[in-house]
Amino acid sequence: MAKNPSEIVIPAELRPADGRFGCGPSRVSQQAVDALASVATTWLGTSHRQAPVKRVVGSVRAGLKQLFGLPDDWEIVLGNGGSTVYWDVATFGLIEQRSAHFVFGEFSSKFAEASAAAPHLGEPVVVESATGDHPAIAAVAGADVYALTHNETSTGVAMQLRRPAGAEAGSLVVVDATSAAGGLAWSPAEVDVYYFAPQKCFASDGGLWIAACSPAAVERIERVHASKRWIPASMSLKTALDNSKLDQTYNTPALATLFLLDQQVQWMLGQGGLAWCANRCAESASLLYRWAESREWATPFVADAAKRSNVVGTIDLVDPAAGGVSANDVNAALRANGIVDTDSYRKLGRNQLRIGMFPAVPPTDVAALTACIDYVVNELRG
Ligand SMILES: *Cc1c(COP(=O)(O)O)cnc(C)c1O
Repeated sequence: MAKNPSEIVIPAELRPADGRFGCGPSRVSQQAVDALASVATTWLGTSHRQAPVKRVVGSVRAGLKQLFGLPDDWEIVLGNGGSTVYWDVATFGLIEQRSAHFVFGEFSSKFAEASAAAPHLGEPVVVESATGDHPAIAAVAGADVYALTHNETSTGVAMQLRRPAGAEAGSLVVVDATSAAGGLAWSPAEVDVYYFAPQKCFASDGGLWIAACSPAAVERIERVHASKRWIPASMSLKTALDNSKLDQTYNTPALATLFLLDQQVQWMLGQGGLAWCANRCAESASLLYRWAESREWATPFVADAAKRSNVVGTIDLVDPAAGGVSANDVNAALRANGIVDTDSYRKLGRNQLRIGMFPAVPPTDVAALTACIDYVVNELRG
């Protein structure tokens, strides 16, 4: 008789030190939570307009510039609402006439939808590929924003960031780096806006958007603002830019989110910066994909190894109809043992595991996870 997945007990010596493998919210370090607890009465519940909170915002802004190796004339802009709100913010305040979107999964399609729905913009150009791949990046006539996605979290496909050859002068490369920022390398010379939220590589909580902006992007923000287009105040990039320069947000931010974000940025810098983080994620990914390739019941979903993400690993399991085990059963067994959020993106509809390998996850935990999956699959097969 088939085993009830939630009754499988994984031996303690196989289990990872920490069971959180989600792709956002993702694992938050205990050290950062302890640091937050230590300032509970002096920092939490205090004004975001006073020096202590502004110092942390300033530390985040300076720390991110250092982490990404940004030239001095770049600005780190932040506001409330997360990356989803940034799509609306950019639709109001960054796209001048027409955007071009390179779509290869759920997240990259959302910004295209926001732009298409905006009555003040021309019809966007959408270049789409099958999931598990990404479209080739090419110049599009009349596009003033190129919307790229560094890492498509719904599929585990990562993209090399490059300015499209032949793009019109003054067009901006705007990158959704929500799950990539802090875990994948990139060059500021190829990008104008690199935006993300803190609940993935930055091991904090959600609810904030952060955008690293080149001088060309800052100039665009100023120009669209000066055009007198109607922009709701809470959606205004110009307002966000002006407040960010003063180490503030337009309205009240979540203080715990800011604090945990700063802890993670400082930890990353202390370990050796973005190169160290990217190497650690690459090591985790290499462990995961090599393991999947060596099991006859598992395969990396992304066929082209060069496009496999180092931060979000997607592993297909042989279908139960073909004699395999159900990924839902594997996930249920893992969850019953404290190993959580290894589920695939629902809408992909595949018999798949999806594993967050952000910098806070040590490669030893990824290796332990693969041993746990081996154990569970063996038990499920009886
Ligand atoms: C998580 C994610 C988002 C959504 O971020 P929110 O902060 O929840 O709005 C957008 N894009 C990508 C690539 C993501 O991984």
